Amino acid sequence: MSNGETGQPILAASAAMRPAEPANAATSPSPLMIDPFGRAVTYLRVSVTDRCDFRCVYCMAEDMTFLPKREVLSLEELDRLCTAFIEKGVRKLRLTGGEPLVRKNIMTLIRGLSRHLDSGLLEELTITTNGSQLARLANELYDAGVRRINVSLDTLDEQRFKAITRWGELGKVMDGIRAAKEAGLQIKINMVALKGVNEHEIIPMMEWCHANGHDLTLIETMPLGEIDGDRTDQYLPLSLVRSRLADRFTLTDIPYKTGGPARYSKVEETGGRIGFITPMTHNFCESCNRVRVTCTGQLYMCLGQDDMADLRAPLRASEGNELLSDAIDEAIGRKPKGHDFVIDRRTRQPAVSRHMSVTGG
Ligand code: SAM
Ligand code: SF4
Repeated sequence: MSNGETGQPILAASAAMRPAEPANAATSPSPLMIDPFGRAVTYLRVSVTDRCDFRCVYCMAEDMTFLPKREVLSLEELDRLCTAFIEKGVRKLRLTGGEPLVRKNIMTLIRGLSRHLDSGLLEELTITTNGSQLARLANELYDAGVRRINVSLDTLDEQRFKAITRWGELGKVMDGIRAAKEAGLQIKINMVALKGVNEHEIIPMMEWCHANGHDLTLIETMPLGEIDGDRTDQYLPLSLVRSRLADRFTLTDIPYKTGGPARYSKVEETGGRIGFITPMTHNFCESCNRVRVTCTGQLYMCLGQDDMADLRAPLRASEGNELLSDAIDEAIGRKPKGHDFVIDRRTRQPAVSRHMSVTGG
């Protein structure tokens, strides 16, 4: 049997076909990846494709040039890479993109990776998606062991949705969210707060999320990659949003954590949770446990810095994982203390030149 995308043998989809785990995989402690600041790296985000079926205004220019396919890691290579990280202490794996669910045969990769959930090495396998393919794939995701997903949704208004995503259809995403809920997936809605665009929708969005059992996380727009507009026009500090919310609702800070950088509050009136991801107004780097890999195998130790390590060459240089493992160790050894994002009228250049769709959210 071959994989239509690469012509290579298809990844194991059932337990019987899965490569054997080390006999003591679930019990033996993995050597942890510890960075120079003493932070253990336990969370990996992998961008499985830079392509997307939307063109969100804050994320991409409309006429994006995507990577030639030959530069992108095959599904088998992505599996090997993720497995190497899991064997080195990653406990939480998030697939992102571009849009992860538009990658051809993505479910083959997800089903293959779920063997690490079965073995107990991996605690969580999750995705960040724009929701456009969820109606089709929600049940398969649940069957592959995915339990929580993040869906990006910036507005509940059809016209505005079109204006923000350029190519997206709100109805499809709402059908997808419904299908995911019915399949048993826990859904967190991610909303990028955009000044003058959707700021008046934050309260209705929160009420809709909480009425439907979803957490809501608000995100500040980050200066990643050239886009068509000016980011200073879009930037809305969440400190301001929070204080406006606090005028109408009782927000109680809670220690709830999902492994990511959001800080959560409980909204007493709705009983739901709201998270704030505030890279601009509150630096969250001190507790960073994450690294990111692009679909070409570049390891970024920080979303907000340009330094990276190429893992594709060591991955392709031999069948064993020794070279790859050494390259990962070397890179973790230079994980920086934090980012230095700035958005102001004087700083016109993005802090880093690559788009969010390269390293994934
Ligand atoms: N396509 C998927 C999606 O939209 O959920 C996954 C990839 S997308 C790059 C991941 C997240 O990054 C989304 O929630 C998106 O809203 C967010 N994002 C993209 N560009 C951003 C930027 N410049 N600043 C802040 N968030 C951004
Ligand atoms: Fe695509 Fe996600 Fe970027 Fe929107 S935010 S263009 S859906 S990758």
